[in-house]
Order: sequence, then structure tokens, then C-alpha cells
Amino acid sequence: MIIVLKPHSKEERILDMMKRIEAMGLRVERTTGVDYTILALVGDTSRISQSTLKTDDIVHKIIKVQEPFKRVNRFFKPEDTVVQVGEHAIGGGEFVVMAGPCSVESEKQLLETAHSVKKSGAHFLRGGAYKPRTSPYAFQGLGKKGLDILKLAKDETGLGIVTELLSIEQLDLFMKDVDIIQIGARNMQNFSLLKELGKTKKPILLKRGISATIEEWLMSAEYIMSEGNKNIILCERGIRTYEGYTRNTLDLSAVPMVKRLSHLPVIVDPSHAAGLWWMVEPLSKGAIVVGADGLMVEVHPEPEKALSDGAQSLKLENFRDLMGEVEVLVRTQGKSLKPKKKGVMPWMES
Ligand code: PEP
Ligand code: MN
Repeated sequence: MIIVLKPHSKEERILDMMKRIEAMGLRVERTTGVDYTILALVGDTSRISQSTLKTDDIVHKIIKVQEPFKRVNRFFKPEDTVVQVGEHAIGGGEFVVMAGPCSVESEKQLLETAHSVKKSGAHFLRGGAYKPRTSPYAFQGLGKKGLDILKLAKDETGLGIVTELLSIEQLDLFMKDVDIIQIGARNMQNFSLLKELGKTKKPILLKRGISATIEEWLMSAEYIMSEGNKNIILCERGIRTYEGYTRNTLDLSAVPMVKRLSHLPVIVDPSHAAGLWWMVEPLSKGAIVVGADGLMVEVHPEPEKALSDGAQSLKLENFRDLMGEVEVLVRTQGKSLKPKKKGVMPWMES
């Protein structure tokens, strides 16, 4: 339930109302906007009498939230969430591109990729150190050594690191070394993992599960946010359908739908969606036009030799060309590849 209070409501009346609601065992989250103050109620609201509340003259309107997700719901927070990572404001009008290999394979491979994608304009370096592979016999990633190589690449290029966490034992290490923790499609509903991540303040890139509905995906984000972590970036990476020509089916309609339902930023991963490198460009363009806040793209210096996902990886020069196309299209959407001025959020600019 959302209670929208009238503009200029007296502070002591607001606090009094919050106290009364909390006394009924509910949690109240307050958002103070320029005009309206919003009280979002989390918990069992069945005991609250809407008609009694409406008689209070500071109440403008009461909205019953039908969806099972609350904190990630746009009703609870009408303005877009901006996840600040270093100088980048994800969801704040800056279009962010995360690029790099599927797996960290060697120092040479990663450093070459990192320098090249940086030069082409990428904002973050992606690369898996711990890999969730369908086969236990496939390359499982370099583990800790992979993280060390990512750190080295960050030191050399300044690019923030996005990498996947598979288990809670890795959390301490990731808290120190990683800028954005990726939760992959296979772990989207690992609820105990999500709860632990919720207790941190680390930015989390939450990929959509292999066959997850939008509601299930948002409920997973709710798990993280219910523990206090608001720094969540959603990532559409295609879902499993009956179609066999592509690895997954990119659900571009999820982007405007999630933007309507939630205040969280959404990026698109065309690489895992298509499974085909030549489809990355058209799908990236589609993602920009439907309102995505960024892209995650797999790039490899020698895709034919990649230890994972070579078929969907762009060569370094193909990524450079893609960024040229992305830049033009992003501008038509009123967004930019350039970071906004440090510490200045779009709504603070004159
Ligand atoms: C990846 O990003 O390399 C990956 C494994 O992605 P997903 O979880 O979307 O399959
Ligand atoms: Mn991959």
C-alpha cells in the first residue's frame, strides 16, 4: 500500500502517521519528493483501514499495490534509481557499456581486450573468473587467479570490473576487488545468495533467469532490496523458448515493461541472447531504442580460440565499430556515452 501525502504536509503530522502505522507491525519507507511525500507500507496491510486513513486531511491518495514486488515497484519510488559506480551513473541518462570476454583465460588475453575495449569507449570490463558451465568437464574459469588478472586490467585501464559470483564463500573476495557483482541467469533464484548480497551495499547486476518471467525476476530483485541493498541493475539476456536458431530469445519487450513496473535500471546482453556474434549489432540497436540503460557485450581477441562462448564474441575491431553505431543511436534517445559530471545527478543539473 502506498500513501501519497498532500504537498506541504506538516512534518510532525507525517511522523505521527508513520508511528501509528509502524505500531501495527508494518514497515514504512518514506520518499520525500519536491511536492509529494510518499509512505510505502511493507508487510500485512490487511489490518489497515483505508477509509480511516482517507479521513486524515494530510492524505492525498491511497494506492493499493497489486504486484507481489514492493520495494522494486515504481509505485514505491516513482523516480528512476541511479546506481553510481565510480564516475558512472547507471540509469541516470548515461548509457553504459560493459565489455570483455566470457571468461578470463590469461593475462595476455584479458589485458589486450581491456585496453582495446577501453579505447573503443567501454565503461566497464566484464569477464568471468568463476564460470557456471553446463558441463562439469568444460573450462570452469581461473578462479582467484582470474580475479587477480581482472584487478591488474583495472589498474592498467581504470575500467571497473563486472564479474560473476557463484557462491557465498566468494563474497569477501568480491567485496574487495569487484565493482559490480554479476548474478548469472542460473543463480537468479538462489534466494539465500540474494539475501546475503542484500546485506551489502555493492552494486549487483541481476541477470534474468533462463526461463524466468518478468515477475519472478523482479521478485529476485526484491529479495536483494528487502535486505537493504538498493544498488541493483537488471540485465535482460534472453529467455529459453522453442526457437532453435538463436541460443535464447531476446525479450526486448521486457525493457519497457520493467521500466514501467520498476524504478531499477535495465541493461541488455545481446551476446548470450543470440549466441551469434553477427546478431549482437542489430540486437544492441534494438535495445537502445526500447530504452535500455546500457549493454553487456562479449568481446575476445581471438573468438575462434575462446574457452567459452566464442561463437557469440565480437572481435576487437567489431566491438570498435559497434561502439560507433551505438554512440549515434544513443544520442537519438537523449542519452550519452559520456559520464555525467561527478557527483551531479541529472535532476540536480540546471
Ligand atoms: C556470462 O555473462 O558469461 C553468463 C554466464 O551469462 P548468463 O548468466 O546470462 O548465462
Ligand atoms: Mn558467456
